[in-house]
Parts: sequence; structure tokens; C-alpha cells
Amino acid sequence: MRIAHLLNRGRPTVSFEFMAPRDEDEVLILERTVAALAGHAPDWVSVTYRVRTGEKTLELVTRIKRQYHIESMAHLTCANTRDETRRILNWMEREGIANVLALRGDPPGPAQPFQPVDPELAHGSDLVAFVRGNGYRLGIGAACSAEKHPESPDREHEFRYMQLKVEAGADFLITQLFFDNRFYFDLIARARAAGIKVPIVPGLMPIPSRRSLAFVTQMSGATVPDQLQQAIDVAPDDEAIRKLGVEHCIRQCAELLEAGVPGLHFYTFNRARAASEILGALRGQQLLAS
Ligand code: FAD
Repeated sequence: MRIAHLLNRGRPTVSFEFMAPRDEDEVLILERTVAALAGHAPDWVSVTYRVRTGEKTLELVTRIKRQYHIESMAHLTCANTRDETRRILNWMEREGIANVLALRGDPPGPAQPFQPVDPELAHGSDLVAFVRGNGYRLGIGAACSAEKHPESPDREHEFRYMQLKVEAGADFLITQLFFDNRFYFDLIARARAAGIKVPIVPGLMPIPSRRSLAFVTQMSGATVPDQLQQAIDVAPDDEAIRKLGVEHCIRQCAELLEAGVPGLHFYTFNRARAASEILGALRGQQLLAS
């Protein structure tokens, strides 16, 4: 089923992002995480894509779909030639994958530029247009930033390219993580004023640790509100930071649900505990159906 259809049903979806495993240790952790989070009956999940683990992405989305009967979307980036991209998309359709998240892909490191393999697939919008233009029947998601992408000069720039993705055929968007809902509400107001009607799903990250927070804020451009940063600065250890992250995310989700978001998409980093605690709290507050 197309994810856009689920997002337009009028009740918020719950979804999880899993990272394709890089080695056997990660496979075991991921297996446990998927099993634990499947118990929360997500409406859909997605699996990240990296060139070196591309086969694993495809393997995992089909397995989750078959074993757990959960709609599973594969991420795909501009890391391949057009022929290779076609081969992957053909494979997805053949295996019954119904949705693809069309992305440019992360640069190799925080200060390094992204190098496209094919000059015609240099941006997320190029990949969206490629999927749509080649007649694939897949639902297409794309990424957007509630804050500023680290490579963008300003938010206007960012907004223009988000619009381009929708014009190229993206039928829903997922935001990069953010810790201050005002960025998301502002993005929605501007999108609706500009006539963008597709669902825009907030992407949420419960902070896993001090080190991961530093890395993801650098890669994503997300900022941490002063009050949360001050609490993190004086937290004695990573468990205390994890708890602060869960509490903050519960507050974010509660406000987003009250505002009528189409869904909540959790960046899990292949860990089940934080997302489980957040969903438990939201159900306890009757903000989500049990
Ligand atoms: P783009 O839209 O191409 O944007 C990248 C930069 O280029 C931005 O600064 C933008 O303003 C600018 N830009 C966009 N279009 C144009 C244009 N036509 N001309 C000039 N400049 C332009 N990365 C992975 O490697 N694998 C994953 O699986 C993955 N999953 C993700 C899932 C989500 C939900 C999100 C939000 C991000 C994910 N990422 C993943 C990270 C993502 O690839 C990076 O954030 C990347 O830097 C941006 O991707 P994009 O598709 O938005 O790129």
C-alpha cells in the first residue's frame, strides 16, 4: 500500500526508521529491535540505504514485509548510475515493495562534499523525477528540513528544493530531525501557503547519547533548544541524557499530535527502548490509540 494513502487516512501513523546492518553484530541487534517494535504495530517502517549495504536494505524491507506484514519502504540515494538505479527499482517492484524514499544521500563526512556518480542524479529531486519519469508505480517519499540543511545558505533555498521534489512527483515528505516544534509548524504554514498539499511527516529522534547527538546535529543541521542543551551539559552520564531525550521527545510528540500531524516517524538507531517508552507514554495520555 502507498504510504501517502496511510498518511491521508485521518489518524496519525506511527513509523520507525531502521538502519541497514553493516555487520553480524548489528544484524542481531536489529533483529531484536524489529521484533520488539513490531509489537507496537507500526503502520509502516523504512530502512536506510548506503552503497556498501544496499543489498541488506533490499533484503530487510522484503523480510519485514513478509514476516511481520508491515508496509516497509526502502530508502534509495543518488549513489548509483542510472542503470544501477533502474535495476534496484525493478527489483523493488518485482518483490512487491510499494514505496521508495528518494534521497540524495549523506556526504562521506561532515566537511566533505557529496559527489554524485551520475550528474543527472545529483539531488533528491532528480531521483524523485527519475522514479516518476520512468513509469514506476511506487509511492515516492522525499526528505525535507524543518531547519536549515547544513549545505544550504538559507531556509528559502531549502524550501524551493522541497517544492521541486513535490512538483517532480513526491507524494509525501519526511522531515529531518528537529528538537523544537516551532520549526516544523513554520514549515507546514509556509508549505500550505505555497500550495503544497502532500503530507509532511515529522521525523523525531530521541537523543541516544552525548556522542550521537553531536554527530547527528552536525550532519543534519538540527539545533538543540538552550534549556535542553543546559540539562544535557550537566547530565552525569549517557543514561541520564537518554532519559532527558525521551522526556523531551514525549513533549514534542504530544504537541505534534494535538496539532494534527499525519504521523510520527522515529529515527530509532536500531534501538527499541526509547521509542517503546515514548509510545507507552503517549498511549497513557490517550494521545495515541492502544
Ligand atoms: P537534496 O534535496 O539533494 O538536498 C541536498 C542539498 O542540496 C541541500 O542543501 C539542498 O538545499 C540542495 N539542493 C537540493 N536540490 C538542489 C538543486 N536542484 N540544485 C541545487 N541545490 C539543491 N542519507 C543516506 O545516505 N541514506 C539514507 O538512507 C538516508 N535516509 C534519510 C531519511 C530521511 C527521512 C532524511 C531526512 C534524511 C536521510 N538521509 C539519508 C540523509 C540525506 O541523504 C541527507 O540529509 C542529504 O544531505 C539530503 O538529502 P536530500 O534528499 O534532502 O538532498
